[in-house]
This record gives sequence, C-alpha cells and structure tokens, in this order.
Amino acid sequence: MFEADTREARIRRMTSTALVAMVLYNFFLLADGLLLRDVLWLAVIVRLGVITPISIGIYMVMRRPDMAAYRDLLAVLTVVLVTSSCGFLITLSESPLHPYYNAGIIPVIIYALLIQRYYFRYAVLCAVLVNVIFAVSLWRQQLTPFELPLALLSYSITGTVCTLFAAYTMEREHRLYYLLSLKERLHAAVMESISNCDALTGLYNRRALDTRFAELELPSGRDNRELAIVILDIDHFKVYNDRLGHQAGDECLRQVAELITGQVADARGEAYRYGGEEFLLLLRDISLERAASLAERIRLTLVERAIPHPDSPTGPVVTASFGVAHRRGSDLSAAELVARADSALYAAKNGGRNRIFPPLGNPVQLVRDIRRA
Ligand code: GH3
Ligand code: MG
Ligand code: MG
Repeated sequence: MFEADTREARIRRMTSTALVAMVLYNFFLLADGLLLRDVLWLAVIVRLGVITPISIGIYMVMRRPDMAAYRDLLAVLTVVLVTSSCGFLITLSESPLHPYYNAGIIPVIIYALLIQRYYFRYAVLCAVLVNVIFAVSLWRQQLTPFELPLALLSYSITGTVCTLFAAYTMEREHRLYYLLSLKERLHAAVMESISNCDALTGLYNRRALDTRFAELELPSGRDNRELAIVILDIDHFKVYNDRLGHQAGDECLRQVAELITGQVADARGEAYRYGGEEFLLLLRDISLERAASLAERIRLTLVERAIPHPDSPTGPVVTASFGVAHRRGSDLSAAELVARADSALYAAKNGGRNRIFPPLGNPVQLVRDIRRA
C-alpha cells in the first residue's frame, strides 16, 4: 500500500533528479579538464556520447508501469555505470593530478543514496557496488604510497555509512509520516461516516439526505435520469411503544431498517432514516412501476416477518404504509418530489394503512389523480 500510494511521487522525483544528475554528471567534465587533461576528449565521448544516452534510455524504461518492480534496480544500474565510467577514465589517465580526482566519489555517493532515495535495501546494494568499483579503480591506479588508496577507501566507506544512515532515517520518517497521514485519513473517513449515519438503525440520516438532495438539485435539463422516492412509515407505532415499551420500539425500528436495507441494496438504492419511525428510499434509474413494486415487496416482507403488534388496529403484526413519487429528468425538484411522496403516504394512511400509494396496477393514473386532487 505504501509502495502503491507513493509510486507516482517516487517516479516524479526519480525522473526529475535523474535529469539534474545528468547535468551534474557532465559538469564533471570540468574536473576532467582540470585533473585528467590527457583523457579529456575521451571523457567527452564517454560522458556525452555513451553514459548520458544510456542513462536517459534507462530512465525512459523506468517510467513504464510494467517496470515498477525493477525501478530501483535500474536506477542502481545507472549509478554503477556512472561510477564505472569515472573509474575507467581515471585509470587511463597519466596526469600527475589524477589521485585528487578520486574525491569525486563523494558526490556520487550523496546523489545515489540521498537524492535518488531508493528503498533502503537497494540503497545498501548501490552502496556496496559503488565502493567495490571504487576499490577496484584505486587498485588499478596503483597509487603510492599504499596508505593513500587505503585512506581514500576509508573516506569513501565512512561517507557511505553516514549517508546510508541518513537514508535509513529518512525512509523511516517517510513511512512513519505516511502511517500518520493514513491514520488521519481513516479517522476523517470514520467521522464522516458516523456523522452521516443514524446511530440506532445504521441507515443514512437526515444530514446525509440533505447532502444527497443538494447533489440532485441540478439545473433543469442537466439530469435526465429517473428518480423515485419512497417514504414509509410504521403504522400505529406510538401504540407499539405504549404497549411494549420504548426499548422494544427501538428493536422494532432496527429490524425494519435491516429488512429495508436488504431490499434496497438489491435495487442499488439508498435508505435513510427520515424521522422517528419514517424511512425514505432514494432510487435512481427506476420507473414508477418498479419503485412501487419494490415498496410492495418491502411491505409484504415486513408482514411475513410477523413482528407482533398486539394493540394495532390494523392487524396483529407490525405493518407500514408507503408513499411513492417519481420524476424523470429535473422537472421536479427533490424537495417537490419528497412533498409528493409525503402526500402519497398520507393517502396510504387514509386508505386504511398497510398499503402503498399509488397502488400497483395503474400507478400512473392514480398519481395523476392525486396531483389533481
Ligand atoms: P401512524 O400509523 O399514523 O403513523 O401512527 P403512529 O403512532 O405510528 O404515528 P405517531 O406520529 O403518532 O407516533 C410515532 C411514534 O414513534 C411516536 C414516538 O414515540 C415513536 N418514535 C419515534 N422515534 C422513536 C425511536 O427512536 N424509538 C422509539 N422506540 N420510538 C420512536
Ligand atoms: Mg410518522
Ligand atoms: Mg407511524
């Protein structure tokens, strides 16, 4: 996950630092001219004509998504090429100043281990390879007295260990920072979901509904999708509470919410707790007929669930009444649609409860009727 989330930033950094590195690598020509004058032309050819184009080619390959697993390895390869080219030039030079040229290993180490920022295991690999190449180059230069190459190698190793330590702590801090920001993002997501959820039923709450409505209020003509709203209200719920107690009422609300959630998920809709014992279903891309039959299915499932409601005038079990409203495009605002669903619910209550309005059969005609009424 850390790798996936930071991949883009790493590629950007590796590519941009690689470009700077190419410039700096060729800036070494100044040192070549000053300390290895006898091989300057060869240095120009090796640096500009061989290593620079190869490195650019490697960086182009590194950017490819299918090379993700080899990215660090390829970057290490360019550093190996750069170090080898310097080692090659110095061993060919007979300039009396050439021993001083060995100091050039330090910027190479700094660049490779601190600027490129490989994953630590690759940084270690790179550090070992660079020092081995440097040691071979020192040996081939046959510097005298023998203390000189040993001292130079000890500088290189000391510099490597210091930069490796810095690279290690930087990577650790980067990972720690990533974990902290992940924790913060998670916390924000949890808070967001808590603030949009009803604590009792786990459904979306009114706050979430208001946000959703704001999204649905597109300027007219911008939304030509269908939208249906169903409001359902448990029948005689006050009596239920009075007879069985508030806690039993809460449990009943939970059961109804669970039942709704299952049904609405099938229709890829959303369920909200709209009020005390009222729920609102928001269904997209669905005809009035299909929305009404979904409501009917929920009504029947609730009856089949047979939650006892001893004092209900409607029957021995918990029932609900449903109002359905529908729009195509943005001819009606979401608020107007809710008002229509509310009137339909009122009609269902007045019609005897435990029913949907408009009823299945000829819903369109009935909706026209209610609009006229
Ligand atoms: P109708 O069939 O006309 O809808 O009658 P009703 O009794 O269901 O409607 P009314 O509006 O008179 O009563 C709603 C009741 O719902 C009153 C209130 O105590 C109860 N209620 C609202 N919220 C909660 C809740 O969170 N928990 C419990 N247990 N009861 C609640
Ligand atoms: Mg009510
Ligand atoms: Mg009610």
